[in-house]
Amino acid sequence: MNNQENCWRQLQNKKRIVIKVGSSTLTHKNTGNLNYEKLEKLVRAITNVKNSGKEVILVSSGAVAVGRETLKIGTKPKSMPEKQACAAIGQCKLMMNYYKLFSEYGKTASQVLMTKYNINHSKSYSNLKNAFLELLKYDSIPIVNENDAIATDEIEFGENDTLAALVSAIVDADLLIMLTDTDGLYTDDPFQNVNAKLIDIVEEERENLINIAKKTSDSDVGSGGMYTKVVAANLLKPLGIDMVITSGKNPDIINKITNGENKGTLFISKKEITTDIREYLVSQIGGEK
Ligand code: GLU
Repeated sequence: MNNQENCWRQLQNKKRIVIKVGSSTLTHKNTGNLNYEKLEKLVRAITNVKNSGKEVILVSSGAVAVGRETLKIGTKPKSMPEKQACAAIGQCKLMMNYYKLFSEYGKTASQVLMTKYNINHSKSYSNLKNAFLELLKYDSIPIVNENDAIATDEIEFGENDTLAALVSAIVDADLLIMLTDTDGLYTDDPFQNVNAKLIDIVEEERENLINIAKKTSDSDVGSGGMYTKVVAANLLKPLGIDMVITSGKNPDIINKITNGENKGTLFISKKEITTDIREYLVSQIGGEK
């Protein structure tokens, strides 16, 4: 076994896992409507990971997309109040589906909605952390989203890649798995360049990756792209939390990764910061807003 295979193999020892799924993975590309087959497969895959003895926290987008479907708004909402209304309606429906599907497998889903405020204020931060840890103790699957109904310009993260990295830091996760539209991070945009190669493992050198990860998303429903994912991986690096970018096409890939199979791009981290995690996170998200 070579060194790279060994790095992937080590992932089977990860216990506390955060999984991030974006709107574009959960919805049909042509209509933006919820893809129930995908949702069911995701819930089943997460249940399997749980049943293998691991803890899972799911960071799920989709509130705005589902609200937009419900309200029959054709395009991405443009005004902030429109986005807030879509999120408030869509979040209920999204959670109703998650709750129902997890219940079918005997699991209890819970909802945690947060904003930057919860990172910037120490009391709120420790409340948030305690809530997560208690939910995990009760064997629940916390499902996290930004509180888009109240997150306006001053307090919004904007996309859930940063949110997923922050959640991973707060709960001191062992691994963050980002499910996305491509198989991982490529040396160039794979939709434009057929010669683009999948990057297997990223250890030290990361600056050049920021340039590679173009600040774009081809999706009409999500707001992140590879850029925000690489930024998230960089945020986790000094915290010793590894991260995988992989394809969300078949959510069962989560089980393969947690069994040590090589499936995507793995960012390996080394713990350098052990105290004042909140302060570090505040510095990363731009401090008090
Ligand atoms: N929080 C938003 C939602 O659930 C999506 C953010 C993103 O595009 O990742 O709709």
